[in-house]
Amino acid sequence: MKLYFVFLSILFAGRVFAQAPVSNVDREIVFKSVNVIPMDRETVLRDQTVVVKNGKILTIGDNAKVKVSNGALVVDAKGKYLTPGWSEMHAHVPAIDDLTPMKEVLMLYLVNGITTIRGMLGNAKHLELRQKVRSGEILGPNFYTTGPAFSGQTVKTAARGMELVKEEKAAGYDYLKLLPGLTKETFPGIAKTSAELGIPMVGHVSFSVGVWAAIDAGYSSIDHLDGFVEAITPGIDTLAEQETGLFSAWTAYSADMSRLPKLIQALKAKNIRVVPTQAIAERWLSPLPATAFANDPDLKYMKPEEVRNWMNAKNANNNNPKFSKERAEAFVDVRRKIILACQKGGVQLLLGCDAPQVLNVPGFATHHEMKYLTDAGLTPFEVLKTGTVNVADYLKKPDSGVIKTGYVSDLVLLNGNPLEDINQSRNIEGVMIGTKWLPKAFIQSELKKLQKQ
Ligand SMILES: [Zn+2]
Repeated sequence: MKLYFVFLSILFAGRVFAQAPVSNVDREIVFKSVNVIPMDRETVLRDQTVVVKNGKILTIGDNAKVKVSNGALVVDAKGKYLTPGWSEMHAHVPAIDDLTPMKEVLMLYLVNGITTIRGMLGNAKHLELRQKVRSGEILGPNFYTTGPAFSGQTVKTAARGMELVKEEKAAGYDYLKLLPGLTKETFPGIAKTSAELGIPMVGHVSFSVGVWAAIDAGYSSIDHLDGFVEAITPGIDTLAEQETGLFSAWTAYSADMSRLPKLIQALKAKNIRVVPTQAIAERWLSPLPATAFANDPDLKYMKPEEVRNWMNAKNANNNNPKFSKERAEAFVDVRRKIILACQKGGVQLLLGCDAPQVLNVPGFATHHEMKYLTDAGLTPFEVLKTGTVNVADYLKKPDSGVIKTGYVSDLVLLNGNPLEDINQSRNIEGVMIGTKWLPKAFIQSELKKLQKQ
C-alpha cells in the first residue's frame, strides 16, 4: 500500500513537472549532482547538491553530505550547470493598457533564463504589472520600470521637466527614462530634481546635452553607449545631429581612440553604469544585409507585420546614402573597443540589448548580446557578471546574483558550461524563479504557445 502511494505520487509529480511550474513554497527542490557556477569567483564546483526552499538557497554541498528531506522534488542534474539567473537591464514591455501582451513578453524573458528585467519605457499599467509580479499573480521576472519618457516631445520647458520628475517619483516609478531631444535648457532642471528626489536618470544622452554634461549630472546608467562615439570624434560639434546617424553610426570611422581613456576615467569617477545594447549595432546598424537575418529562428515569436517593419528598418539603414559597409564595420568595431575599454577601465557594464527592437526578440536577444560582448573581448565570466553580480550591486540586492547559501533562488540550469562557451547560455534545461521551478517541458510548451508565425 505504501509503495503504491509512493508510485502514485511520483507519477503525479511527473505530470505536474511536464505541464506547470512547480512551486516550492514549503517544499524543497533539489538539484542533484550539479556543477555549480557560483559567480562570486571564476570556478566550477563539481558534483554538488543544491537545496532550495521558499525562494532561497538552503544548502550547497558535496553530494554525499547533503541531506534531502522526504517529499523534496529532486532534479537529476548530473553533468549540468547551475548559474544565477540573468538580468536584462534594457528591456521593453509594451506600454499599452492590456496586460496580456505584457505577460507574453515577460514569459519570453523568463524561459530564456532572464530572472530580472528593467523595463525602459513604462506607463501606469506597468506599475500594476510590477505589483502583480511581486505578489505572484503574474509569472515573470523581477520587474523594475522607468516611467514615461523625457524627450524633446514631452518636455518643452525646464519647468515641465522638473514637474514631470516629481510626477513620476510620486507615481512610484523606479527610474526616469531619458530619450533624445532634451536641451541645455530642459536637461539641467531634470537632473537637479532627479538628484533631489532620488529617482535616477537612465537611458539616452541627448545630442545637444552631450556625454560630458550627462556624466557631470550623474546619470545612473547610460544606455546604448549613447554620446560615447560623439565624445571621441573630432569636429563633431560642426555637424548637425541628423548628419551623424543613430549613435553616430555615420561618423564613427573618424573617431579618435586616443580620446577614449578620458571618457572611461570620467565614467568610472562618477560610478556611471553602462548598458551597451551592442545587439543594435551588430544587427540593425551592422554591415550585414537584411537577408542575413531573414531565417533567424527567433523571429517566429514576433508578429509577421512586426518582422516586416524590422526588415524595412534594416533596409532603410543600409540604403541610406551615408551607409557604407566600411563605415558600418568601423562603427561596430569602435563600439567593441569602447565596451572593452569600459571593462578594463573598471566601468561597470550591465547586460542589456533593447528588445523588442529591430531584429532583437525579447529574451533571445539577451543571449546574442552575451555573444557580442565576448566578440568585444570580454571573457565569458566577465560577460556573465554583467547580468548577475554587477546587477546585484547596481540594484543593491546583495543576496542575489551569486549562488551561495541564503541567497535568492533565481537560477538557470544549463546543459553545457557557459564559462567555456558563452553560447551554452541558450542551452537551457530549466529555470528557477524565486519559489518556482520551470522544467524544460514547461518552457517548451510555453514557447510553442508564444509563436506568432
Ligand atoms: Zn530602448
